[in-house]
Amino acid sequence: MKAAIYKEFNGTISVQDVPIPSISTNDGVLIQVMATGVCRSDWHGWKGHDGDVKAAGLPFCPGHEFSGIVVETGSAVQKFKPGDKVAVPFILSCGNCHHCHEDRPTVCAHQEQPGFTQWGAFAEYVFIPRADRNLCLLPPSVSFVQAAALGCRFTTAYRAVLQQGQLVASRRRHNTKTVVAVFGCGGLGLSCILMAASQGATITTIIAVDVSPLALQKAKELGATHIVQTTPTQSPMEMASLTKEYTRYHEGADLTIDAAGFPTTSEAAVYATRPSGRMVQVGLPFGTTNIPMTLVAGKEIELVGSHGFSALDLPNLLQLISTTPALDPAQLVERCVTLEEGCQALMDMDKGSPLGMTIITKFDSPSTKSNSSRL
Ligand SMILES: [Zn+2]
Ligand SMILES: [Zn+2]
Repeated sequence: MKAAIYKEFNGTISVQDVPIPSISTNDGVLIQVMATGVCRSDWHGWKGHDGDVKAAGLPFCPGHEFSGIVVETGSAVQKFKPGDKVAVPFILSCGNCHHCHEDRPTVCAHQEQPGFTQWGAFAEYVFIPRADRNLCLLPPSVSFVQAAALGCRFTTAYRAVLQQGQLVASRRRHNTKTVVAVFGCGGLGLSCILMAASQGATITTIIAVDVSPLALQKAKELGATHIVQTTPTQSPMEMASLTKEYTRYHEGADLTIDAAGFPTTSEAAVYATRPSGRMVQVGLPFGTTNIPMTLVAGKEIELVGSHGFSALDLPNLLQLISTTPALDPAQLVERCVTLEEGCQALMDMDKGSPLGMTIITKFDSPSTKSNSSRL
């Protein structure tokens, strides 16, 4: 089969012929990949920033945002059969650890992640363990591209905005317009804006904050009601001050979300949260932050982390998408490309992030499962 492989961190990523994976555990399935997203997290893996990829070793095949068709099942798999169209979450929880028993699979102690702990979906076929617990059948109305576009960004945004952010609960609590401020309008931030907007533009004020005018324009198209353009030299307090202009009594937003993960945006989000409001950290921060804990205590601000998404919620999210036209993840897709072009798109992330998602949908390969050798 064709797969995108790199043999050294930060080295060339190229399409190579490799054996099709075998069913290595009897709880797993072999999936023919139909669509797979190119994500900044894959770039981090390729650059050598990710401990899981380092532990998995080289050569390596990235890819964790995908959908496809089951072609073979392990002997213990009960819920899926060849021909099933499936969406695959990027956190495959174990179901047995204490976190899983507490219904917190996103922090599973023994999680597997395709594209990080094992070879991923930049390939014609991928092996996925723990299928019964984690895979989800695609509703007929949801396409492979839509399912791949859920990626880690859209699903992560769902958890950040609706679950950890408690947007709907917050609205009920305050019985008034909920004001949401999203810091960082890359793929994750835009997904958060789309998710918030899908809850009803008339009842939610959404403030998008970013340095990029293009990103802010996209944020407006997806439902942001106000935009705040910042500059790289502004302090977190200055960024927060601009944001608070659009909030009740200029006190701050009910819900702030840092989707960028910079120390500055993280701090700015806390400064921009109103008394007894909630701040969600969903962008993975790098560097050291100086969260103003005096403010957190004095204003009783709730600080909440959000990591990934529970596969157990995937049927609910797919149902929501199939019944909410405004929540179409395909709106975030910029282009569909070949596997070769996907390799280039990943390497091109050295120069910055594209505005929308790139999805690999063409594997352009004469090889088939029947004529490829097996691992
Ligand atoms: Zn677990
Ligand atoms: Zn991703």
